[in-house]
This record gives sequence, structure tokens and C-alpha cells, in this order.
Amino acid sequence: MRRSDARLPDHVAETGLQGWTVPPRGGTVRHMKRMMFLAFALLLGACLAQDPASIEMAPRAQPQSQGEIAFMSRLFNDIQPTSITDRREYCGLIGVDAGGSFVATEPVRGRVSSCLPPDPRFADFQVLASYHTHGAWDPDYYTEVPSFDDMRTDIEDGTDGYIATPGGRFWYVDARNQIARQVCGRGCLIADPAYRSDPDDPVSATYTLDDLRAF
Ligand SMILES: [Zn+2]
Repeated sequence: MRRSDARLPDHVAETGLQGWTVPPRGGTVRHMKRMMFLAFALLLGACLAQDPASIEMAPRAQPQSQGEIAFMSRLFNDIQPTSITDRREYCGLIGVDAGGSFVATEPVRGRVSSCLPPDPRFADFQVLASYHTHGAWDPDYYTEVPSFDDMRTDIEDGTDGYIATPGGRFWYVDARNQIARQVCGRGCLIADPAYRSDPDDPVSATYTLDDLRAF
């Protein structure tokens, strides 16, 4: 998430709501039409974007294990050097095959601050989680914590999630409980040597969906 854009959605939503709730005083026909359009747009938005907090997920196919975490940690350390020098996110899916072994899709190269993993519905193994890196350190981006959209996407896709940050933090998005936890902290995965922690933005050990929504 770009820092300068962080407050934009709230501001836009607020403006829209004010436009809708304040009754027009002697408004022109043109104004009324605009009000009706706004009401329609708000209704449409509400239908299309279901709040992820209300989504009921199917149970996890198998409980998270130390083996799964070790597999993910090795995979991240394979990808981090490329993701950091390339300044791009890389993403994919992990899970278990028919024999019970952990498997992953080939990392997809994304953009500076987004990446679209394969659709888990078409994977040829039992998907447990998405994974993605956050690329190189950039002081203009919040990269050390999962974004609201990171957790939202996992909930909508029916998966958990793993994230590696430029500072070498390893996050687990527990989508069913709507909480992100640091599996381990700064420098526990391969990190960007340029990374500097921001004293004004300390990183917590956990964030709930609602915590992330507030960013
Ligand atoms: Zn992310």
C-alpha cells in the first residue's frame, strides 16, 4: 500500500455518505439525479464488495504444522534475493499433494506492490495457503505488515496466507480467525540489506482484520 494513498478510501467513502445522508434543500433536478446516481452507486458497491469479516470459510484441510512452516521458510529464502533485487512481489500457492508432501506453484512475478497468484480452485493439489513477498524496501510503502487487501483476498479465496517482507519478517495470515501473526521477526528470512526500520511505525506481533482496515 502506498503511504500517500492510505487515507483515500476513507475520505472517498465519507464524501459519498455525506452526499447521500444530507437531504437536498431546494435541490435542482440535476442535483436530484446526482443523488439518485450516488444512491445507486452505493447500493451496487455494497452488493459487489461483501465485507470479508462476514465470509464463512470452509475448514482448513489439515492443521498448520512445523513442517509446513519450514517448507514455506525455505521457499521464501529461495525467492527473497530475486524479489529484492528485482524490486517486484512474487507470489503463488502452497499445499499438499496426494502423497501428503508439501508442494508449491512456481513463483509468479508481480508488480512493485501487488501480485496475483493462480486461482486455488484450479490447483492440482490441496491448497493450504497463498504466499507472496513484498519485494525491496521502499520508505514510501508499508511493506513490513500485511495489507488489508492481503487478508481480504485470502479470506475470499478460502486460503490462509504467508508473507515475506523486505525486513525479513515472516507473516502467517490465519484467514479463518482473521488475524495475521509474525511467525518470526525482522531478519529471520533473507532481508533487503538496505532495509531500515521506521521508529515512527513500530511493527506489532499481530494484526486483526479490523486493525488492518484502519491503515
Ligand atoms: Zn502483501
